[in-house]
Amino acid sequence: MRLSQYFLPLIKETPSEAQIASHRLMLRAGMIRQQAAGIYTWLPLGLRVLQKVEHIVADELNKAGCVRVLMPTLQPTELWKESGRYDALGKEMLRFKDRADRELLYSPTNEEMIVDVFRGYVKSYKSLPISLYQIQWKFRDEVRPRFGVMRGREFLMKDDYSFHANVDDAVREYWKMYDVYHAIFKRMGLQTVAVRAETGAIGGDLSHEFHVLAETGESAVYYDKKFDDLREGKITMTGDEQRKLYAAADEMHKPDACPIAKEDLREARGIEVGQVFFLGNKYSKAMGVTIAGPDGQNITPEMGCYGIGVSRLLGAIIEAGHDDNGIIWPAAVAPFDAGLINLRSGDAKCDALCDSIYAALAQKGMDVLYDDTDERAGGKFAGMDLIGLPWQIVVGPKGAEKNMVELKNRKTGEKQELSVEAMLATFTKA
Ligand code: ATP
Ligand code: MG
Repeated sequence: MRLSQYFLPLIKETPSEAQIASHRLMLRAGMIRQQAAGIYTWLPLGLRVLQKVEHIVADELNKAGCVRVLMPTLQPTELWKESGRYDALGKEMLRFKDRADRELLYSPTNEEMIVDVFRGYVKSYKSLPISLYQIQWKFRDEVRPRFGVMRGREFLMKDDYSFHANVDDAVREYWKMYDVYHAIFKRMGLQTVAVRAETGAIGGDLSHEFHVLAETGESAVYYDKKFDDLREGKITMTGDEQRKLYAAADEMHKPDACPIAKEDLREARGIEVGQVFFLGNKYSKAMGVTIAGPDGQNITPEMGCYGIGVSRLLGAIIEAGHDDNGIIWPAAVAPFDAGLINLRSGDAKCDALCDSIYAALAQKGMDVLYDDTDERAGGKFAGMDLIGLPWQIVVGPKGAEKNMVELKNRKTGEKQELSVEAMLATFTKA
Protein backbone atom coordinates (compact mmCIF):
# COMPACT_ATOMS: atom_id res chain seq x y z
CA MET A 1 0.00 0.00 0.00
CA ARG A 2 1.33 3.41 -0.96
CA LEU A 3 0.86 5.91 1.83
CA SER A 4 0.06 8.63 -0.72
CA GLN A 5 -2.99 6.61 -1.73
CA TYR A 6 -3.94 5.42 1.75
CA PHE A 7 -6.09 6.98 4.45
CA LEU A 8 -3.97 7.24 7.58
CA PRO A 9 -5.02 10.30 9.58
CA LEU A 10 -2.29 10.50 12.26
CA ILE A 11 -2.72 12.91 15.16
CA LYS A 12 0.30 14.66 16.67
CA GLU A 13 -1.26 16.08 19.81
CA THR A 14 -2.16 13.83 22.70
CA PRO A 15 -5.97 13.56 22.72
CA SER A 16 -7.16 14.96 26.05
CA GLU A 17 -10.06 12.52 26.42
CA ALA A 18 -7.80 9.45 26.42
CA GLN A 19 -6.66 8.31 29.85
CA ILE A 20 -4.73 5.18 28.97
CA ALA A 21 -1.99 4.41 26.46
CA SER A 22 -3.96 2.13 24.16
CA HIS A 23 -6.80 4.62 23.75
CA ARG A 24 -4.37 7.47 23.15
CA LEU A 25 -2.33 5.48 20.64
CA MET A 26 -5.32 4.13 18.72
CA LEU A 27 -6.59 7.69 18.24
CA ARG A 28 -3.16 9.07 17.37
CA ALA A 29 -2.33 6.23 14.97
CA GLY A 30 -5.52 6.86 13.01
CA MET A 31 -7.09 3.50 13.93
CA ILE A 32 -10.42 4.61 15.35
CA ARG A 33 -12.63 7.67 15.50
CA GLN A 34 -15.23 8.17 18.20
CA GLN A 35 -18.70 8.92 16.82
CA ALA A 36 -20.63 8.87 20.09
CA ALA A 37 -19.73 7.69 23.59
CA GLY A 38 -18.32 4.17 23.20
CA ILE A 39 -19.14 4.00 19.47
CA TYR A 40 -16.35 4.08 16.90
CA THR A 41 -15.60 4.17 13.22
CA TRP A 42 -12.83 1.72 12.42
CA LEU A 43 -10.40 3.57 10.18
CA PRO A 44 -8.35 1.53 7.66
CA LEU A 45 -5.36 0.84 9.92
CA GLY A 46 -7.56 -0.19 12.85
CA LEU A 47 -9.73 -2.33 10.64
CA ARG A 48 -6.69 -4.23 9.37
CA VAL A 49 -5.70 -5.22 12.90
CA LEU A 50 -9.28 -6.01 13.86
CA GLN A 51 -9.52 -8.35 10.88
CA LYS A 52 -6.23 -10.06 11.75
CA VAL A 53 -7.36 -10.64 15.32
CA GLU A 54 -10.69 -11.90 14.01
CA HIS A 55 -8.92 -14.25 11.62
CA ILE A 56 -6.77 -15.79 14.37
CA VAL A 57 -9.82 -16.36 16.55
CA ALA A 58 -11.79 -17.93 13.69
CA ASP A 59 -8.88 -20.05 12.52
CA GLU A 60 -8.24 -21.59 15.95
CA LEU A 61 -11.93 -22.23 16.50
CA ASN A 62 -12.32 -23.85 13.10
CA LYS A 63 -9.37 -26.10 13.90
CA ALA A 64 -11.10 -27.03 17.17
CA GLY A 65 -14.21 -28.13 15.28
CA CYS A 66 -16.42 -25.12 15.96
CA VAL A 67 -18.71 -24.06 13.12
CA ARG A 68 -19.25 -20.43 12.15
CA VAL A 69 -22.68 -18.83 11.78
CA LEU A 70 -23.85 -15.23 11.72
CA MET A 71 -26.87 -14.14 13.70
CA PRO A 72 -28.49 -10.74 13.28
CA THR A 73 -27.61 -7.83 15.56
CA LEU A 74 -31.34 -7.18 16.06
CA GLN A 75 -33.58 -9.60 17.92
CA PRO A 76 -37.26 -9.76 18.78
CA THR A 77 -37.73 -9.45 22.54
CA GLU A 78 -39.94 -12.56 22.80
CA LEU A 79 -36.96 -14.91 23.05
CA TRP A 80 -35.71 -13.01 26.07
CA LYS A 81 -39.09 -13.22 27.74
CA GLU A 82 -38.98 -16.98 27.20
CA SER A 83 -35.59 -17.33 28.88
CA GLY A 84 -36.60 -15.00 31.69
CA ARG A 85 -33.73 -12.60 31.03
CA TYR A 86 -35.77 -9.78 29.52
CA ASP A 87 -35.63 -7.77 32.74
CA ALA A 88 -32.27 -9.01 34.03
CA LEU A 89 -30.18 -6.89 31.69
CA GLY A 90 -32.00 -3.66 32.53
CA LYS A 91 -30.78 -0.48 30.93
CA GLU A 92 -27.71 -2.14 29.45
CA MET A 93 -29.95 -3.63 26.79
CA LEU A 94 -30.90 -1.24 24.01
CA ARG A 95 -34.57 -1.69 23.08
CA PHE A 96 -36.61 0.04 20.43
CA LYS A 97 -39.69 -0.42 18.27
CA ASP A 98 -40.09 -0.99 14.55
CA ARG A 99 -42.81 0.67 12.43
CA ALA A 100 -45.33 -1.99 13.38
CA ASP A 101 -44.70 -1.22 17.05
CA ARG A 102 -42.92 -4.52 17.65
CA GLU A 103 -40.18 -4.32 20.23
CA LEU A 104 -36.66 -5.19 19.11
CA LEU A 105 -33.34 -5.20 20.89
CA TYR A 106 -29.72 -4.89 19.81
CA SER A 107 -27.99 -8.13 20.89
CA PRO A 108 -25.86 -7.78 24.01
CA THR A 109 -25.21 -11.57 23.78
CA ASN A 110 -26.96 -14.40 21.91
CA GLU A 111 -27.75 -17.40 24.12
CA GLU A 112 -31.49 -17.14 23.46
CA MET A 113 -31.16 -16.81 19.73
CA ILE A 114 -28.76 -19.71 19.32
CA VAL A 115 -31.08 -21.92 21.37
CA ASP A 116 -33.87 -20.88 19.02
CA VAL A 117 -31.74 -21.85 16.01
CA PHE A 118 -30.83 -25.15 17.64
CA ARG A 119 -34.37 -26.15 18.55
CA GLY A 120 -35.53 -25.38 15.03
CA TYR A 121 -33.43 -28.21 13.60
CA VAL A 122 -31.83 -30.57 16.08
CA LYS A 123 -34.06 -33.41 17.19
CA SER A 124 -31.69 -36.11 18.43
CA TYR A 125 -28.62 -36.58 20.60
CA LYS A 126 -27.03 -38.18 17.53
CA SER A 127 -26.41 -34.70 16.10
CA LEU A 128 -24.38 -33.74 19.19
CA PRO A 129 -21.98 -32.38 20.18
CA ILE A 130 -22.22 -29.21 18.13
CA SER A 131 -20.49 -25.90 18.68
CA LEU A 132 -21.71 -22.84 16.78
CA TYR A 133 -19.93 -19.51 16.90
CA GLN A 134 -20.16 -16.07 15.40
CA ILE A 135 -18.08 -12.92 15.34
CA GLN A 136 -20.63 -10.14 15.47
CA TRP A 137 -21.20 -6.65 16.85
CA LYS A 138 -22.83 -6.38 20.23
CA PHE A 139 -24.34 -3.43 22.00
CA ARG A 140 -24.38 -2.88 25.75
CA ASP A 141 -25.40 0.51 27.00
CA GLU A 142 -22.56 0.67 29.53
CA VAL A 143 -22.98 3.28 32.28
CA ARG A 144 -19.45 4.53 31.71
CA PRO A 145 -18.00 3.66 28.33
CA ARG A 146 -14.29 4.42 28.59
CA PHE A 147 -10.74 3.63 27.56
CA GLY A 148 -11.63 3.54 23.87
CA VAL A 149 -12.40 0.07 22.53
CA MET A 150 -11.71 -1.49 25.94
CA ARG A 151 -15.16 -0.62 27.20
CA GLY A 152 -17.22 0.44 24.27
CA ARG A 153 -20.98 0.36 23.93
CA GLU A 154 -20.82 -1.16 20.47
CA PHE A 155 -18.08 -3.80 20.35
CA LEU A 156 -17.08 -6.87 18.37
CA MET A 157 -17.41 -10.16 20.20
CA LYS A 158 -16.76 -13.74 19.29
CA ASP A 159 -19.48 -15.79 20.92
CA ASP A 160 -19.56 -19.54 20.77
CA TYR A 161 -22.28 -21.88 22.05
CA SER A 162 -21.95 -25.64 22.41
CA PHE A 163 -24.66 -28.27 22.87
CA HIS A 164 -24.16 -31.67 24.48
CA ALA A 165 -26.09 -34.82 25.33
CA ASN A 166 -24.72 -34.98 28.89
CA VAL A 167 -22.80 -33.08 31.53
CA ASP A 168 -19.54 -35.02 31.09
CA ASP A 169 -19.40 -34.12 27.45
CA ALA A 170 -20.14 -30.42 28.12
CA VAL A 171 -17.45 -30.28 30.82
CA ARG A 172 -14.94 -31.95 28.50
CA GLU A 173 -15.71 -29.29 25.87
CA TYR A 174 -15.32 -26.59 28.50
CA TRP A 175 -11.75 -27.63 29.24
CA LYS A 176 -11.00 -28.04 25.57
CA MET A 177 -12.08 -24.45 24.97
CA TYR A 178 -10.01 -23.38 27.97
CA ASP A 179 -6.94 -24.71 26.14
CA VAL A 180 -8.06 -23.29 22.79
CA TYR A 181 -8.35 -19.86 24.41
CA HIS A 182 -4.80 -19.97 25.71
CA ALA A 183 -3.65 -20.90 22.19
CA ILE A 184 -5.65 -18.07 20.59
CA PHE A 185 -4.20 -15.41 22.88
CA LYS A 186 -0.69 -16.81 22.62
CA ARG A 187 -0.87 -16.57 18.83
CA MET A 188 -1.51 -12.84 19.24
CA GLY A 189 1.57 -12.49 21.41
CA LEU A 190 -0.44 -12.28 24.65
CA GLN A 191 0.13 -14.06 27.93
CA THR A 192 -3.15 -14.65 29.73
CA VAL A 193 -4.08 -15.84 33.18
CA ALA A 194 -7.33 -17.80 33.48
CA VAL A 195 -9.11 -17.12 36.78
CA ARG A 196 -12.18 -18.74 38.31
CA ALA A 197 -15.07 -16.37 37.85
CA GLU A 198 -18.66 -15.83 38.79
CA THR A 199 -21.19 -16.53 36.09
CA GLY A 200 -23.09 -13.22 36.34
CA ALA A 201 -26.05 -12.54 34.06
CA ILE A 202 -24.99 -15.33 31.70
CA GLY A 203 -25.53 -17.92 34.42
CA GLY A 204 -24.31 -21.50 34.73
CA ASP A 205 -22.14 -23.55 37.04
CA LEU A 206 -18.48 -23.13 36.11
CA SER A 207 -16.61 -20.23 34.59
CA HIS A 208 -13.16 -18.79 33.93
CA GLU A 209 -12.17 -15.34 32.79
CA PHE A 210 -9.03 -14.83 30.73
CA HIS A 211 -7.02 -11.79 31.69
CA VAL A 212 -4.12 -9.94 30.16
CA LEU A 213 -2.16 -8.55 33.09
CA ALA A 214 -1.75 -4.78 32.81
CA GLU A 215 -1.70 -1.94 35.31
CA THR A 216 -4.54 -0.27 33.43
CA GLY A 217 -6.75 -3.37 33.70
CA GLU A 218 -10.18 -2.76 35.22
CA SER A 219 -10.31 -6.03 37.16
CA ALA A 220 -8.40 -7.24 40.19
CA VAL A 221 -7.14 -10.81 39.86
CA TYR A 222 -5.50 -13.10 42.41
CA TYR A 223 -3.30 -16.02 41.51
CA ASP A 224 -0.57 -18.40 42.59
CA LYS A 225 2.85 -16.88 41.98
CA LYS A 226 3.77 -20.03 40.05
CA PHE A 227 1.92 -18.46 37.09
CA ASP A 228 4.58 -15.73 37.06
CA ASP A 229 7.34 -18.34 37.21
CA LEU A 230 5.70 -20.16 34.31
CA ARG A 231 5.45 -16.99 32.27
CA GLU A 232 9.07 -16.18 32.90
CA GLY A 233 10.06 -19.71 31.90
CA LYS A 234 11.46 -20.52 35.37
CA ILE A 235 9.32 -23.65 35.73
CA THR A 236 7.31 -25.91 33.46
CA MET A 237 4.01 -27.60 34.21
CA THR A 238 1.52 -29.70 32.31
CA GLY A 239 -1.82 -28.14 31.38
CA ASP A 240 -3.47 -30.33 34.00
CA GLU A 241 -1.16 -29.10 36.73
CA GLN A 242 -1.74 -25.49 35.72
CA ARG A 243 -5.49 -25.86 35.94
CA LYS A 244 -5.15 -26.87 39.57
CA LEU A 245 -3.25 -23.70 40.54
CA TYR A 246 -5.16 -21.08 42.46
CA ALA A 247 -6.45 -18.19 40.32
CA ALA A 248 -9.56 -16.15 41.07
CA ALA A 249 -11.39 -13.07 39.88
CA ASP A 250 -12.12 -10.40 42.47
CA GLU A 251 -15.62 -11.64 43.34
CA MET A 252 -14.39 -15.22 43.76
CA HIS A 253 -11.38 -14.42 45.93
CA LYS A 254 -12.10 -14.70 49.64
CA PRO A 255 -8.95 -13.71 51.57
CA ASP A 256 -10.00 -15.71 54.67
CA ALA A 257 -10.73 -18.83 52.69
CA CYS A 258 -7.82 -18.61 50.25
CA PRO A 259 -6.20 -22.06 49.97
CA ILE A 260 -2.66 -20.82 49.38
CA ALA A 261 -0.22 -19.03 51.66
CA LYS A 262 -0.11 -15.25 51.52
CA GLU A 263 3.47 -15.20 50.28
CA ASP A 264 2.51 -17.42 47.34
CA LEU A 265 -0.37 -15.20 46.31
CA ARG A 266 -0.08 -12.48 43.68
CA GLU A 267 -2.54 -9.67 43.22
CA ALA A 268 -2.59 -7.87 39.89
CA ARG A 269 -4.75 -5.85 37.51
CA GLY A 270 -6.17 -7.60 34.50
CA ILE A 271 -7.98 -6.84 31.25
CA GLU A 272 -10.71 -9.44 30.67
CA VAL A 273 -10.32 -10.56 27.07
CA GLY A 274 -12.46 -13.67 27.24
CA GLN A 275 -14.69 -15.81 29.41
CA VAL A 276 -15.86 -19.42 29.23
CA PHE A 277 -18.98 -20.81 30.90
CA PHE A 278 -20.39 -24.25 31.49
CA LEU A 279 -24.09 -23.34 31.41
CA GLY A 280 -25.74 -26.64 32.20
CA ASN A 281 -29.33 -26.62 30.99
CA LYS A 282 -30.23 -23.10 32.11
CA TYR A 283 -31.27 -21.87 28.66
CA SER A 284 -32.27 -25.14 27.05
CA LYS A 285 -34.61 -25.87 29.96
CA ALA A 286 -36.09 -22.37 30.20
CA MET A 287 -36.78 -22.41 26.49
CA GLY A 288 -38.27 -25.91 26.55
CA VAL A 289 -35.72 -27.66 24.31
CA THR A 290 -35.93 -31.44 24.26
CA ILE A 291 -34.30 -33.92 21.93
CA ALA A 292 -34.34 -37.70 21.66
CA GLY A 293 -31.81 -39.24 24.09
CA PRO A 294 -29.77 -42.44 23.73
CA ASP A 295 -32.26 -44.67 25.57
CA GLY A 296 -35.41 -43.45 23.89
CA GLN A 297 -36.18 -40.87 26.60
CA ASN A 298 -36.26 -37.19 25.73
CA ILE A 299 -33.38 -35.17 27.17
CA THR A 300 -32.62 -31.50 27.67
CA PRO A 301 -29.25 -30.63 26.14
CA GLU A 302 -26.39 -29.31 28.26
CA MET A 303 -24.67 -26.15 27.04
CA GLY A 304 -21.50 -24.14 27.25
CA CYS A 305 -20.78 -20.64 26.00
CA TYR A 306 -17.49 -18.96 25.31
CA GLY A 307 -16.88 -15.28 24.58
CA ILE A 308 -13.91 -13.28 23.37
CA GLY A 309 -13.76 -9.48 23.22
CA VAL A 310 -12.35 -9.16 19.71
CA SER A 311 -12.30 -5.34 19.61
CA ARG A 312 -11.18 -5.08 23.26
CA LEU A 313 -8.22 -7.31 22.36
CA LEU A 314 -6.70 -4.50 20.29
CA GLY A 315 -6.58 -2.32 23.38
CA ALA A 316 -5.13 -5.16 25.44
CA ILE A 317 -2.45 -5.93 22.84
CA ILE A 318 -1.40 -2.27 22.80
CA GLU A 319 -1.40 -2.02 26.60
CA ALA A 320 0.96 -5.02 26.56
CA GLY A 321 3.13 -3.67 23.73
CA HIS A 322 4.05 0.00 23.35
CA ASP A 323 6.73 2.52 24.27
CA ASP A 324 6.97 6.32 24.39
CA ASN A 325 7.07 6.53 20.61
CA GLY A 326 4.03 4.44 19.85
CA ILE A 327 2.61 0.99 19.33
CA ILE A 328 4.75 -2.17 19.00
CA TRP A 329 2.63 -4.78 17.23
CA PRO A 330 3.30 -8.48 17.57
CA ALA A 331 3.98 -9.68 14.00
CA ALA A 332 0.85 -11.87 13.91
CA VAL A 333 -1.53 -8.93 14.18
CA ALA A 334 0.50 -6.05 12.72
CA PRO A 335 -1.53 -4.04 10.19
CA PHE A 336 1.37 -4.34 7.72
CA ASP A 337 4.42 -6.59 7.93
CA ALA A 338 6.85 -3.73 7.29
CA GLY A 339 7.08 -0.05 6.50
CA LEU A 340 9.22 1.24 3.63
CA ILE A 341 10.39 4.83 4.04
CA ASN A 342 11.54 6.80 1.05
CA LEU A 343 13.54 9.71 2.48
CA ARG A 344 13.54 11.57 -0.82
CA SER A 345 10.45 10.91 -2.85
CA GLY A 346 10.84 12.35 -6.32
CA ASP A 347 14.55 11.48 -6.47
CA ALA A 348 14.87 9.08 -9.40
CA LYS A 349 17.30 6.69 -7.66
CA CYS A 350 15.39 6.56 -4.38
CA ASP A 351 12.08 6.06 -6.16
CA ALA A 352 13.43 3.29 -8.36
CA LEU A 353 15.04 1.46 -5.44
CA CYS A 354 11.89 1.75 -3.31
CA ASP A 355 9.75 0.49 -6.18
CA SER A 356 11.96 -2.55 -6.63
CA ILE A 357 12.06 -3.30 -2.88
CA TYR A 358 8.30 -2.91 -2.67
CA ALA A 359 7.83 -5.34 -5.55
CA ALA A 360 10.35 -7.84 -4.13
CA LEU A 361 8.66 -7.85 -0.71
CA ALA A 362 5.24 -8.27 -2.33
CA GLN A 363 6.72 -11.24 -4.20
CA LYS A 364 7.56 -12.78 -0.82
CA GLY A 365 3.94 -12.37 0.22
CA MET A 366 4.63 -9.41 2.49
CA ASP A 367 2.21 -6.62 3.06
CA VAL A 368 4.18 -3.36 3.06
CA LEU A 369 3.18 0.22 3.80
CA TYR A 370 5.31 2.35 1.50
CA ASP A 371 5.76 5.95 2.63
CA ASP A 372 6.16 7.62 -0.75
CA THR A 373 4.97 11.02 0.48
CA ASP A 374 7.12 14.15 0.47
CA GLU A 375 6.87 14.77 4.20
CA ARG A 376 10.15 15.55 6.00
CA ALA A 377 12.24 12.66 7.35
CA GLY A 378 11.51 13.36 11.04
CA GLY A 379 7.77 13.17 10.45
CA LYS A 380 8.11 9.93 8.51
CA PHE A 381 10.14 8.27 11.26
CA ALA A 382 7.79 9.43 13.99
CA GLY A 383 4.75 8.25 12.01
CA MET A 384 6.22 4.79 11.42
CA ASP A 385 7.20 4.43 15.08
CA LEU A 386 3.71 5.49 16.10
CA ILE A 387 1.90 2.89 13.97
CA GLY A 388 4.31 0.24 15.22
CA LEU A 389 4.97 -2.06 12.24
CA PRO A 390 7.53 -4.73 13.20
CA TRP A 391 10.11 -3.61 10.59
CA GLN A 392 11.12 -0.34 8.97
CA ILE A 393 13.18 -0.22 5.80
CA VAL A 394 14.71 3.19 5.21
CA VAL A 395 15.93 4.28 1.79
CA GLY A 396 17.90 7.54 1.49
CA PRO A 397 19.84 9.17 -1.35
CA LYS A 398 23.29 8.20 0.00
CA GLY A 399 22.38 4.56 0.47
CA ALA A 400 20.54 4.38 -2.84
CA GLU A 401 23.84 5.21 -4.63
CA LYS A 402 25.38 2.05 -3.10
CA ASN A 403 22.26 -0.11 -3.07
CA MET A 404 22.18 0.05 0.74
CA VAL A 405 19.25 0.45 3.10
CA GLU A 406 18.71 0.69 6.82
CA LEU A 407 16.62 -1.99 8.50
CA LYS A 408 15.12 -1.12 11.87
CA ASN A 409 13.49 -3.52 14.30
CA ARG A 410 10.66 -1.54 15.92
CA LYS A 411 10.66 -3.61 19.08
CA THR A 412 14.37 -3.60 19.91
CA GLY A 413 15.16 -0.34 18.12
CA GLU A 414 18.15 -2.10 16.55
CA LYS A 415 19.25 -0.66 13.20
CA GLN A 416 21.36 -2.39 10.56
CA GLU A 417 22.95 -1.07 7.38
CA LEU A 418 22.39 -3.77 4.80
CA SER A 419 22.61 -4.29 1.08
CA VAL A 420 19.21 -4.58 -0.51
CA GLU A 421 19.85 -8.29 -1.13
CA ALA A 422 20.84 -8.95 2.48
CA MET A 423 17.81 -7.03 3.73
CA LEU A 424 15.46 -8.99 1.47
CA ALA A 425 17.06 -12.24 2.58
CA THR A 426 16.08 -11.57 6.21
CA PHE A 427 12.42 -11.90 5.24
CA THR A 428 11.51 -15.49 4.63
CA LYS A 429 7.74 -15.18 4.80
CA ALA A 430 6.27 -17.15 1.93
P1 ATP B 1 -16.89 -6.84 31.68
O1 ATP B 1 -16.80 -7.57 33.00
O2 ATP B 1 -15.58 -6.31 31.20
O3 ATP B 1 -18.00 -5.84 31.64
P2 ATP B 1 -18.46 -9.03 30.79
O4 ATP B 1 -17.97 -10.07 31.72
O5 ATP B 1 -19.73 -8.35 31.06
O6 ATP B 1 -17.31 -7.92 30.59
P3 ATP B 1 -18.92 -11.06 28.78
O7 ATP B 1 -20.38 -11.18 28.82
O8 ATP B 1 -18.10 -12.09 29.46
O9 ATP B 1 -18.49 -9.59 29.29
O10 ATP B 1 -18.49 -10.87 27.24
C1 ATP B 1 -17.43 -11.59 26.61
C2 ATP B 1 -16.24 -10.69 26.33
O11 ATP B 1 -16.63 -9.50 25.62
C3 ATP B 1 -15.58 -10.15 27.59
O12 ATP B 1 -14.67 -11.11 28.11
C4 ATP B 1 -14.88 -8.91 27.08
O13 ATP B 1 -13.60 -9.25 26.55
C5 ATP B 1 -15.76 -8.42 25.95
N1 ATP B 1 -16.57 -7.26 26.38
C6 ATP B 1 -17.59 -7.24 27.26
N2 ATP B 1 -18.08 -6.01 27.42
C7 ATP B 1 -17.35 -5.21 26.58
C8 ATP B 1 -17.38 -3.81 26.27
N3 ATP B 1 -18.27 -3.00 26.83
N4 ATP B 1 -16.50 -3.35 25.36
C9 ATP B 1 -15.61 -4.17 24.78
N5 ATP B 1 -15.53 -5.48 25.04
C10 ATP B 1 -16.39 -6.00 25.92
MG1 MG C 1 -17.11 -11.70 31.33
